[in-house]
Amino acid sequence: MTTSPHAAYRPEYFTPIYEMAVAQFEKAAASINLDPNVWQRFVVPKRALMVSVPIRMGDDSIRVFTGYRVHHDNTLGPSKGGIRYHPDVNLGEVCALAMWMTWKCALVGLPFGGAKGGIRCDPRAMSRVELQRLTRRYTAEILPILGPDIDVPAPDMGTNEQTMAWMMDTYSQFKGYAVPGVVTGKPIAIGGSQGRNEATGRGVVYTILEAMKHLGVQPEGKRAAIQGFGNVGSITAKALVEAGCRVIAISDVSGGVVNDRGLDVAGAIEHVARHGSLDGFSGGERLSNAELLEVACDILVPAALSGQITKANAERVRCRILAEGANGPTLLEADPILQGRGIFVIPDILANAGGVTVSYFEWVQGLQHLFWKEREVYERLREIMTTAFAQVLATAQEKKVDMRMAALMIGIQKIAAAKLARGIFP
Ligand code: NAD
Repeated sequence: MTTSPHAAYRPEYFTPIYEMAVAQFEKAAASINLDPNVWQRFVVPKRALMVSVPIRMGDDSIRVFTGYRVHHDNTLGPSKGGIRYHPDVNLGEVCALAMWMTWKCALVGLPFGGAKGGIRCDPRAMSRVELQRLTRRYTAEILPILGPDIDVPAPDMGTNEQTMAWMMDTYSQFKGYAVPGVVTGKPIAIGGSQGRNEATGRGVVYTILEAMKHLGVQPEGKRAAIQGFGNVGSITAKALVEAGCRVIAISDVSGGVVNDRGLDVAGAIEHVARHGSLDGFSGGERLSNAELLEVACDILVPAALSGQITKANAERVRCRILAEGANGPTLLEADPILQGRGIFVIPDILANAGGVTVSYFEWVQGLQHLFWKEREVYERLREIMTTAFAQVLATAQEKKVDMRMAALMIGIQKIAAAKLARGIFP
């Protein structure tokens, strides 16, 4: 494998998660004999902006938060990626997530580059007014690198359609007119797309159903365990039940619950809507997030944080299919262990690409001022997800690599071809 020329001058964002994204990239880049000049460029983000976000808290004190927005690439169009509000957000994590967005968009054939953003904060400990101030000031701070043709954010962990509505409004106030195309994942009332809210979870399930077809497994009665019960986890659970599966374990930041006979997913969604978390949800025995990952099941879906499947617990994961709803849930050292144990991994950049795909639909609908029906959104989403799945599987079989490597190889190849065609400036 070629060693990155950046090895001797590692910038500060080369944290463990960024090193993991780079190591995945370099392994795939070596397998496709990537042009060394393109290689050098892809190891680093195009630009990264760090901002201080001072806001007045509910008790009248001023608090200063740190925010980031990173564009990894913009070869094919505006950069695209979510905004995360979480206490662990840091530059290395945001850079890694932005790089994964580049490969993800290229893999499913969207005319976007990769980006990511976030604020280091605990949204669960903040009031609605504080969150609105935080979002508006952050948007104002990153304004120079934001715009429908420049960079288009979307929700991620700790943010939702309300966050996007505040971002859209703040950007529009600066412009003096409504600019719906500056964000996706916004409410339908201001130009959001039908189906965007459900897109990532549904996309996860489309890929699981394709994996089952490939493995000759019927969905009926198959047991699923899901870590994270926010947007991605809860919709995945709901769509799995619709497909005939039995959701036996779910968890969130407050811990989890397990019942081999199946959980009441609709009831759990209602409970979270009312109480803010799964805490107090009955219907099974309590279990920890670590225990959930080791529950005997057919389908395991990590849909919360990165770095959950490690060298230490990969031996104890007991599923047939592992579908990565979250970004980066499996550490590098865990991959060969999972593969050795015959676990079929649907990698993040494929499994959770449904979100950015419907974000693309939302962006296109906004540009055309023409809005699609929900059925149309899901049909197109399913087609894109199943086509991408088939391409990744074919590459994995042809090149004798795992699904993650195959997905990365396809994504990197596409974007490298575009970069080489454009050449270098000046
Ligand atoms: P969300 O904020 O809606 O939900 C996050 C869930 O994770 C919540 O249930 C929360 O309680 C749980 N969680 C937080 N900290 C936890 C911890 N320490 N242990 C266990 N659970 C914890 O976020 P989301 O949008 O569902 O995103 C979840 C994952 O999916 C993230 O990795 C995100 O990058 C990825 N993703 C999201 C989208 C999208 O469209 N929202 C698209 C692609 C990928």
